[in-house]
Amino acid sequence: MPGRVIVVKRRDKLGWLERLYVPMIVKGLRVTAGHFFRNLRGFITGKNRTDFVVQWPEEQVDYPDAFRGMPVLVQLPDGQPRCVACGLCEFACPTDCISIVPGELEGAGIERYPEAFDIDMSRCMFCGLCEEACPEEAIVMSRNVEIATYDRASMTYRKEDLLVPEDYLKRRLDFLRDEYDRVDEPPSGPERS
Ligand code: SF4
Ligand code: SF4
Repeated sequence: MPGRVIVVKRRDKLGWLERLYVPMIVKGLRVTAGHFFRNLRGFITGKNRTDFVVQWPEEQVDYPDAFRGMPVLVQLPDGQPRCVACGLCEFACPTDCISIVPGELEGAGIERYPEAFDIDMSRCMFCGLCEEACPEEAIVMSRNVEIATYDRASMTYRKEDLLVPEDYLKRRLDFLRDEYDRVDEPPSGPERS
């Protein structure tokens, strides 16, 4: 349910009527009252409702594809992260909230994987730079913003907490490929060798 964008023109100088303020206050009240009665009528009759009230958490907002919630790790069908622990997201993060410990994956086609991958969400500002820096589409911004807790320690998300199956992130991944004109998606699973 996306909101309407209204562009308001701003003038440098106020007219004499505007400088009196009272007519402007009355004008503002008229607009507010107009919205109130229109929405009240819509609420009573159930028709032409223009209000934007979401009864959260019972009702959820379907955020647009460009929305950036908390960053998560893409989980391949075999349960492994797509991440190859290159460290680019860690380097790109402006708040230093990503910590990666790389490990070697014996017998696999790829050399490195994240033995540990932590994000301190209390410092993350959902900027998406980690997602932009990642060459593997391994870290993406999810739609989840409901991460409030009562203590700071539980704001540190470990690799296991961050893994989200690729299918659940399809909308965001499609959006990114479109946004960055990526033709091919990175190979996954055994094809990565
Ligand atoms: S979204 Fe921004 S602040 Fe958060 S982990 Fe990614 S780069 Fe760091
Ligand atoms: S998430 Fe991407 S950028 Fe970060 S370490 Fe893994 S592969 Fe590299």
